[in-house]
Amino acid sequence: MSQRLENKIALVTGAGAGIGEATSRRFAEEGATVIVTDMDGDAVERVVADITAAGGRADGRVQDVTDEQGWDSLVDAIVAEYGALHVLVNNAGIALPANVEDATLADWRKVQAVNVEGVFMGCRAAIRAMKSCGGSIINISSIEGIVGEPNTAAYNTSKGGVRIFTKSTALHCAKQGYPIRVNSVHPGFILTAMVEQGLASMPEDVSQEMLERLDREIPLQRMGEPLDIANGCLFLASEEAKYMTGSELIIDGGYTCH
Ligand code: NAP
Repeated sequence: MSQRLENKIALVTGAGAGIGEATSRRFAEEGATVIVTDMDGDAVERVVADITAAGGRADGRVQDVTDEQGWDSLVDAIVAEYGALHVLVNNAGIALPANVEDATLADWRKVQAVNVEGVFMGCRAAIRAMKSCGGSIINISSIEGIVGEPNTAAYNTSKGGVRIFTKSTALHCAKQGYPIRVNSVHPGFILTAMVEQGLASMPEDVSQEMLERLDREIPLQRMGEPLDIANGCLFLASEEAKYMTGSELIIDGGYTCH
């Protein structure tokens, strides 16, 4: 069995479901000790128990990524207990679908708080820990950080922010001589609770139109699986990506090709 993350300590946020859960499992399969965090404590316990039962190493923490003090104390605790933090996947994210005319300021701010401010605080805390031991930071953006979608104005904005913030952070680390790589991952449409809930929250004609458009426009003719994104994160976390920083890894079945 290959062990591409042997002796690595990895933190994955929003890991109680979907892409974060799949990434945690994949990292553990490759030898990492995974710190699984999410707001949902039961989900954290379930994922940690599953990884442990499969022979992997995992530890769980309840975390709201919008909590600034929580970020610092979490990373301090990981370094104190495990000696280092080598990989951070800033995965936690929310989508509150609405177009520019219907979006409320409260929802807009909620989306930016989780999707942008959470990623910023995660990077800041991780860089402090990784400066000496080196590391890989992976920020989960979206194809919606690259192309527009009329019904997700706040989400589009947040994911575009994550894309360019990643490049700024990568340049900063390189300029300082820190051995830290920072890259973004841009999933297309991946079958998780987020997509299911997003579709369910739209008027039926809008969700139907979107599903039909996806069938037509995804060149590989299917939505992705969380594992498709987990494998991309694994690559960026591993030494195989040692010459990559500030890059954007698009995993979308070809959706953004045209
Ligand atoms: P998901 O199934 O909804 O899982 C997201 C997880 O993040 C949930 O467990 C959620 O907990 C947690 N979370 C939400 N707010 C949080 C917070 N403030 N602090 C900590 N955890 C929080 O979503 P997913 O589809 O796996 O998406 C994961 C990431 O991929 C997100 O950044 C998303 O924007 C991005 N992405 C997804 C797709 C897609 O098609 N699925 C496409 C492009 C990008 P609760 O369930 O308790 O809220």
